[in-house]
This record gives sequence, structure tokens and C-alpha cells, in this order.
Amino acid sequence: MTLDAVTDWTAASEAEFDEVVALRRAIHQDPEIGLNCPRTTEKIKAALDGLPLEIHDSTSTTGFVAILRGGRDNGRTVLLRGDHDALPMQEETGLPFASRVPGAMHACGHDSHTAMLVGAARALCARKDTLPGTIVFMFQPGEEGYHGARYMIDDGLLDVARPEAAFALHISPNIAAGVVVSRPGPLLASADTLRATIRGKGGHGAMPHDCLDPVPVACEIVTALQTFVARQVPVMDPAVLTIAQINAGSAHNIIPADATMIGTLRTLSEATRAKVQAAFVRIVEHIAAAHGAIGEAEVEQGYPVTMNDDRACVLMKACAEQLGGEAGWQTMPAPMMGAEDFAYVLREVPGAMAFLGVAPEGSDFRTNPPLHNTRMTIEESVMARGVAMHCAMAERFLNDGLD
Ligand SMILES: [Zn+2]
Ligand SMILES: [Zn+2]
Repeated sequence: MTLDAVTDWTAASEAEFDEVVALRRAIHQDPEIGLNCPRTTEKIKAALDGLPLEIHDSTSTTGFVAILRGGRDNGRTVLLRGDHDALPMQEETGLPFASRVPGAMHACGHDSHTAMLVGAARALCARKDTLPGTIVFMFQPGEEGYHGARYMIDDGLLDVARPEAAFALHISPNIAAGVVVSRPGPLLASADTLRATIRGKGGHGAMPHDCLDPVPVACEIVTALQTFVARQVPVMDPAVLTIAQINAGSAHNIIPADATMIGTLRTLSEATRAKVQAAFVRIVEHIAAAHGAIGEAEVEQGYPVTMNDDRACVLMKACAEQLGGEAGWQTMPAPMMGAEDFAYVLREVPGAMAFLGVAPEGSDFRTNPPLHNTRMTIEESVMARGVAMHCAMAERFLNDGLD
């Protein structure tokens, strides 16, 4: 495909801009948390009303997919995803459209993700007749730790029109406005929760020989876990294992019966993830057993590694440069250890996710309040670029595929 053949998505997205801003502010003002975001879904569906889309609701969440079947169907299908849940925190931006819901705030930019995706749906519907394939718009709640994408996949929503590629954008106030940033391969980490209980025998603090003190056993486990990460995990395929909390005891002269600990495991490959998960269980059980105590270990599976497909990343880069010139794209030098539930989609379908810089005009992107901060704000004008990116990625994939 030559550049002349590419639809001018910049102009199309500018045309949608006022509605995109209005929707973003309406969602921002009325945030909802978790898997059930009925007021947000209602706003999105109202904004899509009248468009030639097939709506398929999720049965286990308030999310849905909207399907656009292009007029020149060549058999290709692409998915674009926007999440729309907020965070349990009190907004302190002072914006005129700040949250009116106490203790809830769109501090991760999901309001803008949704508004941009609606803008893209509108712009793409306007070109329905010439679109060479099918586009699935995925509107999902429950990204912030609730596995919303996995629930929607389990509901069968990837099978209504099975996509062969999937794309998502996540805003960042710590990237210069308008710049798209991503990388091939791992983009974000897996994030599992680790829990352990060491069962010993309580008693008098002065007579440990009559007890089975779980505290030194717990300490030995923490040290052994760090030794495992340092000596058994490949340095080029790393893991972060943090025991963030240890609880035991109630007074200076009582040996507790139990000790509990909780932590997080982050990895950049499923191989290292599985290896460290197995080691965690083994180390807890066996070190406890070595001391005559009982060690119980539990791994709560969190989000998988967010793995970008190399070819999808090349496509994304081409779109970013088409819209923003050479400065419109930056390759991330390394993955980040945060996590994203778009990872579940990318486990099923090759695709890519990128960050879109939304540093407010006049601000320093290096020092702006980051995502998940009570003062996080965005440069709304960049949302036009986000709309254009969605459109360009979808059109380019439908025309050319990933090869
Ligand atoms: Zn977040
Ligand atoms: Zn987010």
C-alpha cells in the first residue's frame, strides 16, 4: 500500500474531536470501578447509537463488543480495544469536569481510551463502504486488577468475529504529547500475587525450645526466595519477587503459632514466570518442612506478560510515523514492570499495545503527575491523534495483514 492510498485519518479524527472531548469529560466526571460500569456503558452506547454496528454484550461484565462489517470484505478482521474502569482514589486535579463520585477517579486515562475508541468507531463507520474487512471494537471494564478482558474472552466475545490482529493504546502523561511509544516483544510484565503461611507452634517467648517459632522460618524463606531469583533466573529474562508484607505475633514475649507473608511476582516471559511460581511453592513448603513446620504456599494468577507481536509493532510504528512524522514514534528501550489485562487478548491474537504521550501543553513530561496519581491530567488535543492511530492501524491491517 502506498501512502497516497492511505485515508487521511488526521482530518477524519479532527472532525470527531469535539464529541470525543465531550464523551471523555462525561465519563471522567462519573467514574465507575471494576467489572460493572453500567453508567459508563450507557454513555458509550449512546455515543455509538445510530452507527452501523452489531453490539454483543458480555454476560459476566457490563462490557461489550461492537462489530463493523466493511463493504469490501476481504475476510480480514481486526480488534481495537479501549478500557473504561476508574480507580478507587480521590481526585485532586481541580478540573471543572473532575470526578463527582467520592473516592473514584479516572487516574489511568481509561476515560480517554474509551472516548478515542468511540471517535475511531465513528470515523471508520463513515467509511464503511470502502473498508476491506471487519473491525471489532472492544469496550471493556475491569482492567485495574479485575481481569475484565479475560471475562469477556471467556464470554466468547473474541469468537463473534474472530480477529487476526489486535491493537490498544494507553495514554501516558510522562511522554511528550502526541508521541507513540512501544517495542516489539515483552512490553509489560506478568503480575502474580504470592501468599504463604508458616504453621509452627506458639508459646512463651522465653522458652522457644517448647515451641516451633515460625518467624525465623519465614525469614529464611524470604532470603531463599531472593537467592533463587539471583542465582536461578536468567539475567536477560528477569524476575522481580518482592515479599511486601510479613505478619506474625502479638507481643514481645509470645512466640506466635503462625506467620503469613504476601508479595508480588513480576516476569517478562511465561517460562520465567512458571519457573519462579514453582520455586516459590517448593521453597515455602520445603524450608518449613526442614524445620518441622508446615509451609502453605498459594500463587494467585494475575495478568500474563503483555507480549507485542514483532510484525504488529512494525505496523504500529508505520502508522505513528505516517501521522506524526519520524518524531511520532519512539521505540522503548526496555519493557516496564507494570501489567495490563490486554495481555489476555494478546495471548489469543497477535497484536500490539503502545503508549500515547499526553503531557499537557507547557508541562514537563518528566515531572508530570504520573498515572494513578490524584493530580494526573492529560492534553486532550492529543486524543485526535489517538483516534487517527486506531483508524490507521485498523485500515492498514485490513489492507495488508501483518506480513
Ligand atoms: Zn491503571
Ligand atoms: Zn490503565
